[in-house]
Amino acid sequence: MTFESSTARRGASSSLRGGFRRAALVGSGLALATLLVRLPARGAEPKERPIAVVDLHVDLPYRHNYRDGSFAESSGQFPARKLARAGVVGVVLPLFVPKSHAPEGPRFSDFETSYKGVLAEIRKTPPYLPPGCVETPGRVRTFLAFEGAGAFAEDPKRLDEWVGRGVRSLGLVHTKANALASSSGDAKPMPFGLTRAGKALVERAHRLRVPIDVSHASDRAVEDVIELSRRSGVPTIATHSNARALADHPRNLTDEQIRAIASTGGVIGVNFHSRFLASGRRATLADVVAHVLHLVKVAGVQHVAIGSDFEGDINPPAELADVGGFPRLASALERAGLSRDDVRRIFSRNALRILCGEK
Ligand SMILES: [Zn+2]
Repeated sequence: MTFESSTARRGASSSLRGGFRRAALVGSGLALATLLVRLPARGAEPKERPIAVVDLHVDLPYRHNYRDGSFAESSGQFPARKLARAGVVGVVLPLFVPKSHAPEGPRFSDFETSYKGVLAEIRKTPPYLPPGCVETPGRVRTFLAFEGAGAFAEDPKRLDEWVGRGVRSLGLVHTKANALASSSGDAKPMPFGLTRAGKALVERAHRLRVPIDVSHASDRAVEDVIELSRRSGVPTIATHSNARALADHPRNLTDEQIRAIASTGGVIGVNFHSRFLASGRRATLADVVAHVLHLVKVAGVQHVAIGSDFEGDINPPAELADVGGFPRLASALERAGLSRDDVRRIFSRNALRILCGEK
């Protein structure tokens, strides 16, 4: 943000100097020179700087490791060259391993491969910073996460090393129950939420002050995680889930779950996938606004964030087809009655409170 604004200022002042130079060249009359410097030179209008965005869920690691996409170009939803103008200053990168690659669930060797691929992309793609909370103006902070962490059931102590590498959010399951927890995608509800190993891993994560991400978890698992959150004081988060009251899908959260997550101090990141925004049709920007407003009403504005799910094979609203839509969403939220400050909280501050303890 700081970089954006100073660039805009530098751009404006150099264009103004250009205007003066042109006036001097014309030089034949003061009136004409005055007129020329008053007229804004092309590009001199300082652009309104976009509201900073920290996105809690972007599947660039999946795109790069399993779909031949680079961080620079991505699938077109999250290309590096568009991030500055969109206001993106931070992103959570899940080390997701697809079922096609690991039918029995990801192994530690898969995590290692994913991690190495992600670090290499971060290093060669300019706006990205290495994982961590250190802020550098004009750069994009990165945070690592798991989305499906069954391998840790065998050895929860290994989580410590991953937290040291920059993991800031731990999603236990993906679309199928594993050795840690049951999933919202299970064909039949399982007779458990967290398994014994799942409970042990959650407790270990909480000792390391790492929040559990309950997007993809079954209702029973959400309940179990929140119970452990209440004991430890570490928030529960849902990085990329919407409101079930507006779009009835097991991946979305009931109002009761939304309130419970808020009561732990956690956040819910709004997902841009049409299926989780509206039932049976392509969603629109208005649907995203409706979910944000609903979450604000039920949870409070301190507990709502952005978790686009870009690069995760999603079908977003046409107005939010890529990161370039973030400023459009910010304007729509303000038109819907949220203050600029509320939008700033939702777009980045609430996420940074969870990821980095920033107030
Ligand atoms: Zn997901």
